[in-house]
Amino acid sequence: MENIAQKQQKVITRFAPSPTGFLHIGGARTGLFNYLFAKQNGGIMILRIEDTDRERSKKEYENSIFEGLSWLGIKYDEFYYRQSERTALYQRHIEKMIEKGTAYISKEDGRDGKRSEVIRFKNPKTKISFEDIIRGKIEFDVSELGDFVIAKDIESPLYHLAVVVDDFEMGVTHIIRGEDGISNTPRQILIQEAIGAPRPRYAHIPLILAPDRSKLSKRHGAVSLLEFRDKGFVAPAIVNFLALLGWHPKDESEILSMSDLIAQFSLPDVQKGGAVFNMDKLRWINREYLERMSEVVFSEHAERFMPEDIKNAEGYSLKTLNKLRPLLLERISTFGDIRELAERGELLYFFSQPLYEKETLFWKGEGNPDSVREILRALSGMLDKIPPEEFGEEYIKQKIFPFAEEKGKGSVLWPMRVALSGLPKSPDPFTLAAFFGKDETLRRLAVAEKKL
Ligand code: GLU
Repeated sequence: MENIAQKQQKVITRFAPSPTGFLHIGGARTGLFNYLFAKQNGGIMILRIEDTDRERSKKEYENSIFEGLSWLGIKYDEFYYRQSERTALYQRHIEKMIEKGTAYISKEDGRDGKRSEVIRFKNPKTKISFEDIIRGKIEFDVSELGDFVIAKDIESPLYHLAVVVDDFEMGVTHIIRGEDGISNTPRQILIQEAIGAPRPRYAHIPLILAPDRSKLSKRHGAVSLLEFRDKGFVAPAIVNFLALLGWHPKDESEILSMSDLIAQFSLPDVQKGGAVFNMDKLRWINREYLERMSEVVFSEHAERFMPEDIKNAEGYSLKTLNKLRPLLLERISTFGDIRELAERGELLYFFSQPLYEKETLFWKGEGNPDSVREILRALSGMLDKIPPEEFGEEYIKQKIFPFAEEKGKGSVLWPMRVALSGLPKSPDPFTLAAFFGKDETLRRLAVAEKKL
């Protein structure tokens, strides 16, 4: 039996998360694979919230599914279902099954000693095999499953029944889900056959493993999708990274946009073995995306991660932030890294005069105030001669370097750098001077001179 959608051969996939936890990285990848496969075949993807477990299902978890998918740009063709709202439909199918003798009501002693009724599937005890798009032929002897329970009563279907009825009613043609779904497949195929549903194609995608090849879990760090957003990863990088968890393009390229993925993704080429989650790779990919971001978008993101004390600093503005972009890019892989830089005190000085002890100005802790003051004064004199519009890194270096070579590089460049950053470690003084521009550079050198 085929329904209309299948007759038209339209690909229909579904992403069917259970809202019993925050949408995690593995769930998001399953959603992505369903989306890519649907899109590349001109089909649609349905979002189905599998909340038959009423006790463990929570609204906040469901929200994390909507929010996570929308953040990643995985669109579910405008409709979604909640299993808890479809009990009448399941009931009709259970009644039909009982009528046809493929299911029966069984009176049983419960654990509490009370007699109750459950609905069991009448197992035909055959062998079942199916062709998995990724794994090839998979065979099961279903007799050992016995007459398994499909509903607690007519109104309370259990998970397998609801899944099969939904896949049927929604015309799902391809079931793409995690490898942990393999063991569910024989029961689901049995129910399909009992209700006369056509068999969809299956593709079971590999588990995501931690670097030690154990199953990825919370103890390995962030696993919830939105946590990655909160740590300053950007959505296209996560999409890119997720796609490479178990699949890679033929030409081995690593930076792929959603539309590249729709064009190139190949379900049959997904690997069978577990896909190892590599944080360094994710950070590398994320950085690639930061580099490709326009200045405006970069600054908008960066600003969200700037601590208040920096945003309140006198010299803080979107313009300075834009100017800082190349320097930031050398130091961060995620926007969250901005917070760490700030905590280590490596950001504030870009926006306000740094506070430091005069001893920091002494190269290797040596030197006397007089000689350092003289050097700073000479530097100011040379810098003052550079026209403001020429005040770039190369030009400054050209002018200062011969002097530094003459007096000793450390003795000149160290105090110059400390005068600008206030720190024993920071970018080189030419970069800093160019960043601050002529006026601010001269001002900071004067402050240093006064300290001595
Ligand atoms: N609701 C199931 C889960 O979240 C997925 C079931 C399926 O894809 O068939 O694990």
